[in-house]
Amino acid sequence: AKGEGRNTFKFYVPKMDANADKRLLLETSLRKALDNEEFRVYYQPKVDITTKQITAMEALLRWQHPTLGLVAPSEFIPLAEETGLIVPIGEWVLRAACLQNRKWLEMGLPPMKVAVNLSGYQFQQPNLLDIIRTVLADTGLDPGLLELEITESVIMQNPDFAVAVLAEIRDLGIHISIDDFGTGYSSLAHLKRFSINTLKIDKSFVRDVEINSADAAIATAIIAMGNSLNLKVIAEGVETEGQLTFLSENKCDEVQGFLFSTPMPSEDVADFLRGRTTL
Ligand code: C2E
Ligand code: CA
Ligand code: CA
Ligand code: CA
Repeated sequence: AKGEGRNTFKFYVPKMDANADKRLLLETSLRKALDNEEFRVYYQPKVDITTKQITAMEALLRWQHPTLGLVAPSEFIPLAEETGLIVPIGEWVLRAACLQNRKWLEMGLPPMKVAVNLSGYQFQQPNLLDIIRTVLADTGLDPGLLELEITESVIMQNPDFAVAVLAEIRDLGIHISIDDFGTGYSSLAHLKRFSINTLKIDKSFVRDVEINSADAAIATAIIAMGNSLNLKVIAEGVETEGQLTFLSENKCDEVQGFLFSTPMPSEDVADFLRGRTTL
């Protein structure tokens, strides 16, 4: 009986170790990833639904780990938040994206905004505004060409705090989008207090918008809410012509998704834009 017990013990332990090992490996690697220059920023266009012009490029972080390969943001962003590493990583992304947008302008590309995702942890940092101001000063990017995306759930965690921070960001001349909109609990009463420019319809409502009447109702309600508050509305995760037609008929302002482009390395952006204008 003693031997059996030992066997059972041996049987369960390796799997638990493997999970803990993976997490520890990720965490130790994440601490070194900035210094080792393992991060890349990819860019995905936002498209004006009527003119088809590119209004912005969203910066999406990619981590190329030397042995694990490409690690998805869904795997390392939560870890970066738990460890506080999101603060230096987020500042790095902001700086890289602002510098890149300056470069595109200098290359003669038409002016577009660059959109950077802010995590909840970053949003709560008392020195967030200082960091943003410093990056803008260092890179010389016009604040009007920077957009910050903050999720609805982060904003709704503490609406009064969010009202104050968003107002300060907007005073710098930066655009603000509420990301993953529709998944949180904003009401019209909340929304009118926030200094924001855009609502971004979460892709979970876009996927089945043509066949699911609840999703269609949510999408059209968000568009109506945006219109009544003079906000732009963008839909993310647009993959098909059918979804695009629905959004266009219902007066959504902008779209983003694989239908137009997957996120691409910065070097591909000029070719992407040229390819579109010669079409
Ligand atoms: P998000 O900000 O909601 O970004 C949209 C995600 O949907 C991206 O995944 C994008 O690649 C993906 N996507 C774009 N078009 C389509 C489409 O047509 N269909 C589908 N199914 N997906 C599409 P990604 O790049 O893996 O990023 C996942 C999340 O990680 C982001 O969600 C964002 O919350 C976070 N993230 C990425 N980069 C950063 C960053 O620099 N800072 C912070 N704080 N978070 C980031
Ligand atoms: Ca986003
Ligand atoms: Ca989103
Ligand atoms: Ca999301």
